Amino acid sequence: MADRRKLAAGNWKMNGTTAELSQIDALVAAHGDAGCEVLICPPATLIAPMVARAGGKIAVGGQDCHAAEKGAHTGDISAGMLRDAGASHVITGHSERRADHGESDADVRAKTEAAIGAGLVAIVCVGETLDEREGGRTLDVIDTQLAGSVPDGATGDTVVIAYEPVWAIGTGKVPTTEQIAEVHAHMNARLKERFGDAGDAIALLYGGSVKPSNAAEIFAVDKVDGALVGGASLKADDFGGIIAAL
Ligand code: PGA
Repeated sequence: MADRRKLAAGNWKMNGTTAELSQIDALVAAHGDAGCEVLICPPATLIAPMVARAGGKIAVGGQDCHAAEKGAHTGDISAGMLRDAGASHVITGHSERRADHGESDADVRAKTEAAIGAGLVAIVCVGETLDEREGGRTLDVIDTQLAGSVPDGATGDTVVIAYEPVWAIGTGKVPTTEQIAEVHAHMNARLKERFGDAGDAIALLYGGSVKPSNAAEIFAVDKVDGALVGGASLKADDFGGIIAAL
């Protein structure tokens, strides 16, 4: 069995100004030597100051990148720029970007390729809507997104997959452990089919309403290698509780 990395990743979304950098001091003090990788993905404006503040104890990542290296793309940020600011990871294909910015699987794949090319680890997000789950289409949706969004040549060193049911994000609703286990086993099998041992080594995060109170139960599920956490990553106390459970 492959040795998949364990990762507690926080996604601050469009939250946080320099005042909130103090959360990093608390996280470093409490969990700088955690037995898993700890990552915060703040708004792009905070990446460089957060890298400086984290002193290498906590990894810092972007929430999105453009597929191109540079050029006439007003408001966008390239993977190389994130790397240059000190980021080690970037989230690609978050459902909020798929919904708000119409990102297709092909777009997500191109961004993921750009991220890997720039030396970043890409956290590729997949997940079904409530309609898709209720229609019994969850595994088909995951298959389509994995096939379309994850580039050829992916390995456990370059890619992490986050399973985030859209209906569980920010809602307080969490799938049953059986539902999480089913999707994670399925993703691991698909990645192994496509990439062999390298696919088996790709870490699989669960995301969607993870809190200190439910983290241990979720992390006990087979092939759950960590979490991508939104709301509960904004406060060091909450995120610390999740890190401690991993
Ligand atoms: P949530 O968000 O933890 O607030 O549900 C998770 C995510 O969108 O990554």
